[in-house]
Amino acid sequence: MRSIDQLDLAKKRVFIRVDFNVPLRDGVVTDATRIEAALPTLRYAREHGARLVLASHLGRPKGKPKPELTLAPVAKKLSELFGQAVTLAPDCVGAEAERLANGLAPGAVLLLENLRFHPEEEANDDGFSQQLARLADVYVNDAFGTAHRAHASTAGMVRYVAAHGAGFLLQKECDYLGKVLQAPERPLVAILGGAKVSDKVAVIDHLLTTVDALLIGGAMAYTFLKAQGVAVGGSLVEADRLDTAARLLEQARGRGMQLLLPVDHRVSGSPKGDQPVQIVGQTIPDGMLGVDIGPETERRFAAEVARAKTVFWNGPMGIFEIPAFSHGTTAMVDALVSSGALTIVGGGDSVAAVMQSGKADKISHISTGGGASLEFLEGRTLPGLAALED
Ligand code: AMP
Repeated sequence: MRSIDQLDLAKKRVFIRVDFNVPLRDGVVTDATRIEAALPTLRYAREHGARLVLASHLGRPKGKPKPELTLAPVAKKLSELFGQAVTLAPDCVGAEAERLANGLAPGAVLLLENLRFHPEEEANDDGFSQQLARLADVYVNDAFGTAHRAHASTAGMVRYVAAHGAGFLLQKECDYLGKVLQAPERPLVAILGGAKVSDKVAVIDHLLTTVDALLIGGAMAYTFLKAQGVAVGGSLVEADRLDTAARLLEQARGRGMQLLLPVDHRVSGSPKGDQPVQIVGQTIPDGMLGVDIGPETERRFAAEVARAKTVFWNGPMGIFEIPAFSHGTTAMVDALVSSGALTIVGGGDSVAAVMQSGKADKISHISTGGGASLEFLEGRTLPGLAALED
C-alpha cells in the first residue's frame, strides 16, 4: 500500500475519498471532528500542487437525492477550516462534475455532492466506478470509517486509477490498530462493552488468540454471566447467543487467558434513570437490571489496565448516556488515561465517552471508524485497504 507522500500529485486531479459523514442540525455542522481529521492529508495535497476532488457520503439517503443530506454545510465548514474557497459540485458524477474537476487550478478544491445519492455507490457498480474514476488522475483513500465497505468510491473505482494510495488518516488508523494485532507491547488488554454480544463475537474470537486479558462489561456481560448460570434478573440478555458465550468462555479457559466479567453491578428497576441505583454482587435480583458495572469490577478492570502496555477499548460499561449509569464507563476512561500504556479507543459510544470526559488528548489514538476498527481487529482484510494494495 503506497502512501500519499509516495505519489506524484503536482497539477493532477487528486480524488480523495474522505469521511465527512458529520452530524448536522438545521443545516449546520455540529461536530467537525471528522473534517478536521482529514486536514493533514488535504494540506499536504494542496502544498504539493494537487487539484483536489473530494468525495464523501453523508447519512443514509438510500440512493436518492435528499436535500437535507446535501454536503453544502460541509463545504461551508471545510472552507472555514481549510481557509480557502470550496466549490460544491451539484452531483458526484456526470458532465458538470467532470467540467468542474477539469477546470480546477492547482491547490483549488472541489467537493462532490453526496456519493450515496446514487444507489450504485453502495452496490459497488462498475459503470459508476468508471464514472467516478473519470474525475481522478490519482486516487487517495483517507476514509477509514468506510474502509470495511466494498463501495464504488472505496473499492470499485480504484482499479481504474493506476496511481493510488492511502491518506495520512487512513495510515494512522492502520498503524495504531496494527499495533494491537502485530507484535503488541505486552501485556495487551482489550476491554469490550456495549449492547450486543452478536456484534462482537468475531472480534472476541480473534482477540482471544492474541490478548493477555479480555475485560467484558456493558450489557454484553449479562449474556456471558447467564451462560455461566449466574442469575442476571431483568438485564439485557441475548438468549440466542448463550451457546456462543459459553463456547467463548471455554476457549478462554482452554488457552489459560484471563477473561474478566463483572463481579458486581449497579442495578436499577428501570433502564431509563427514573428509579434509584443500587450496588449488588454478581447475582442480580429479580425485578432489577444491570445498568453499569459495580465499584469492585471497576477496581479490578482498572488494575488490569494499569498493568497493561497496550490497551484497546470498544463499547461502554453501562447505559452511559444516563449520568447515573455512567460511572463504570468514566472509570475506564480514567484508567486508560492514567495507565501510561499505548491506548486505542474505537467505536462511537466509547469515543463519545472519552470526548465527554475532556481527556481525549491523553489517549494515544481515537479511531474514527467503529465498525471498521472492529473488522480490522477481527483479522479481516478490509475491502478499502485491499483495493489500495498493488
Ligand atoms: P454498542 O453499539 O454495541 O457499542 O452498544 C452501545 C450501547 O450499549 C449504548 O447505547 C449503551 O446504553 C448500551 N448499554 C451498555 N450497557 C448496557 C446495559 N447494562 N443495559 C442496556 N444497555 C446497555
